[in-house]
Amino acid sequence: MYAQGQDGLMSTYRSAWRTRSPRTYALSALIIGLYCALYFTDVFEPIAQALHLRNKWFLYGTVYSILMIGGGLYFLKAHGNSRYHKIRIAVNVAIQVVLGLSLPYAMAFFGHPDYYFSYFWPLKYDYLMPGTLNYLPWYLALYSVVGAFIIVPFGALFFGKRWYCSWVCGCGALANTFGDPWRHMTSTSTESWRFEKVSIYAVLVFILVATAMMFGDWFGGNQIGWFHETAEWTKYIYGFLVGSILSGVIGTGVYPILGPRIWCRNFCPMAAILGITQKAGRFRIAVKPDMCISCGNCSTYCEMGIDVRAYAQQNETFTRSSCVGCGMCAHVCPRGVLKLENAWDENTDKANAGQLTIEF
Ligand code: SF4
Ligand code: SF4
Repeated sequence: MYAQGQDGLMSTYRSAWRTRSPRTYALSALIIGLYCALYFTDVFEPIAQALHLRNKWFLYGTVYSILMIGGGLYFLKAHGNSRYHKIRIAVNVAIQVVLGLSLPYAMAFFGHPDYYFSYFWPLKYDYLMPGTLNYLPWYLALYSVVGAFIIVPFGALFFGKRWYCSWVCGCGALANTFGDPWRHMTSTSTESWRFEKVSIYAVLVFILVATAMMFGDWFGGNQIGWFHETAEWTKYIYGFLVGSILSGVIGTGVYPILGPRIWCRNFCPMAAILGITQKAGRFRIAVKPDMCISCGNCSTYCEMGIDVRAYAQQNETFTRSSCVGCGMCAHVCPRGVLKLENAWDENTDKANAGQLTIEF
């Protein structure tokens, strides 16, 4: 197994730092503490100044990139016998280093507003709010609108949410690199699935309401006092609760004890939109009939808590809105049962197996 570069599977439950243990709880508490210090204090500003970085957010971006590179090397050591994963992780890291770190820094250096080309509304919630669109140069404002309403949803229609969640997004990239050692910690319980269904759409409704209120306020010329205050307050609460606590403090802080995709699975409004689109699109995980030996590797290593084995046992090709298309279920399957596909046609495996098929 090691000779194949698959020591990741073998070592999963042997390492105390990859199971719920005092040291993983301590690591989780440390990450949560660092995020709180970053978001709610200025203790990192002197370090940023000493390193000649513009502010603490550029320090954060630098540390984020270093963790992603280190995690990417770990991932490739554990799972690097797959060409798909080699390319995917290389793209993740390249996008972070070029679009997430270097380009915003260069833009700020040359006096332009720093802009993160790999993030779109509603993940970067202020990129579609009137205050930001007014402030951005016209080409960046246009990019924000086209990205949010055309590039992202049409990409998901054709390729599933994996093109964004597993290849482009910085949150997903950190989860798949720095967070990879804990992917098996994701809950597959029915309760976690019920929670996910409510929480992710609740956050989506929240950002839709907040964005609509900001536009309403803007169209009213910010003149209706009570409405202006309510809109600003709603945006502030969203930024604090979702933008800071859920995405950063909780989303990253609990990697070592609850798995690396807590934010993506339960709270990311972009994942909610992409998931709806994915269900209507052509992405699916094809199951080869009568091949599954029920080992459970696929369910164990699914970072989104999907019980892939249950589908495989029933010879059922499936599309789940929460699936980020990381490909790990197919990678760890010892029988080659699973395959990530993009196709509009009727599923042939299911048709061969005499199962009902879903027409897209
Ligand atoms: S079902 Fe497979 S491809 Fe989808 S998130 Fe889970 S492991 Fe990744
Ligand atoms: S990893 Fe493959 S063989 Fe094992 S339960 Fe999943 S589909 Fe079946």
